[in-house]
Amino acid sequence: MKSPRLDLVSGAPYWPLAAGLLGVYPPLTANAECEVAVVGAGITGALVADALAESGIEVVVVDRRDVARGSTAASTALVSWELDVELGALIEQIGEEDAVLAYRASLGAVGTLERLIRKLPEDCGFTRRSSLYLASSRGDVRRLQREAELRARHGLPSEYWDRKRLAGSYSFRAQGAIRSGGSAEVDPYRLTHALLARAVGRGARVFDRTEIVREDFARGRITLKSARGPFIRARRVVMALGYEIPRPLRRDIVKLSSTYALVSEPVAEWTGWEDRCLVWESARPYHYLRTTGDGRMMIGGEDEPFRDPARRDRVLPRKIRLLSHRLAKVLPSFRAEPAFGWTGTFGSSDDGLPYIGEWSEAPGRIFALGYGGNGITFGAIAAEVVRGFCLGEPSDEARLYSLDR
Ligand SMILES: Cc1cc2nc3c(=O)[nH]c(=O)nc-3n(C[C@H](O)[C@H](O)[C@H](O)COP(=O)(O)OP(=O)(O)OC[C@H]3O[C@@H](n4cnc5c(N)ncnc54)[C@H](O)[C@@H]3O)c2cc1C
Repeated sequence: MKSPRLDLVSGAPYWPLAAGLLGVYPPLTANAECEVAVVGAGITGALVADALAESGIEVVVVDRRDVARGSTAASTALVSWELDVELGALIEQIGEEDAVLAYRASLGAVGTLERLIRKLPEDCGFTRRSSLYLASSRGDVRRLQREAELRARHGLPSEYWDRKRLAGSYSFRAQGAIRSGGSAEVDPYRLTHALLARAVGRGARVFDRTEIVREDFARGRITLKSARGPFIRARRVVMALGYEIPRPLRRDIVKLSSTYALVSEPVAEWTGWEDRCLVWESARPYHYLRTTGDGRMMIGGEDEPFRDPARRDRVLPRKIRLLSHRLAKVLPSFRAEPAFGWTGTFGSSDDGLPYIGEWSEAPGRIFALGYGGNGITFGAIAAEVVRGFCLGEPSDEARLYSLDR
């Protein structure tokens, strides 16, 4: 079962440029044994490795790229509990009990992230933020009112704001919005490095530039063969592969597309956006906004349903212009000059939920795949689900994320 190598990111993703080289890990040059091997050193693999190492489990992490240089480098890193599929729509898909459980699990995961980041030596740009979910058109207003009522009824921290109330507090132009508490933003590149450094301090071993090309499962142990020759033997393997999953699995669970992002030069004033909340909208695909610790605006979106890297890269300059126009339209009082732009592959699932657990066709392998606009929140969920699985204490909500659902 080979994971395809995709051209995941191009252009100038902001986080690695801003932070530089944060940690250096060697490639695997000798055979290794461990209890759990984690394939993939993006934000998901790092969160999983950190949780396992904290529980005293012997972990080896490998990545074929440098640490955090897959999709994690491209992420705009809004840490939101509001899922891409609205609660009302998710209830129609999976029923009220499970949909509410999924929303509550995501809300809880932002708190889990906050707690684990507070114990790191640096804050990794983690800041709690409110969020605004803008009505993209007049036709969406009624649906958003119902969505806000539904969320509030289930104890989720959301309320509907009409156009007047919105205009009284923000410069954003929309017919109405859901305003929610409980979300956050982070620097995913710094966070991935910091988590792996902590895991190493607890005995984990990390090897990057090490590609896994074959897995053999026999007598309750997995052998992972690396392209350079050495292998890893483990009792369990966690596949935190991001969008690079084996083809039969990909066809069933994830739709890949191309997405674009832009970061502005620093902004002098935040009049009409004083709280620097996260902003997104009810259209699909959607645009979204956040700010950075050094006072820039970040806008993403303009998704296209193709993932041909050459085509994706060719249209990058035009997409950056479109993102700038979009910014000017939704925030007419702000002037933001583009500074960095990039494009990447993006994957989403039909119900907006991640895939975490064993796949019936790949025994012994636990997948941790956080798709959609909540990839980081889902990484925190994956870490707890995988930890529970490895400790023989499976969590109640794990069934929501089953690969065989
Ligand atoms: C432009 C953009 C904006 C986004 N915005 C947000 C956002 O605002 N909020 C949010 O939560 N999410 C967002 N996402 C999604 C989020 O970035 C991803 O869900 C998340 O980064 C995935 O992390 P990961 O660790 O699962 O995957 P990756 O970071 O891709 O890590 C997987 C790793 O597995 C390695 N790998 C794969 N196969 C092998 C192999 N055979 N051997 C060894 N290593 C292997 C890869 O090299 C890679 O480094 C965005 C994504 C993009 C592209």
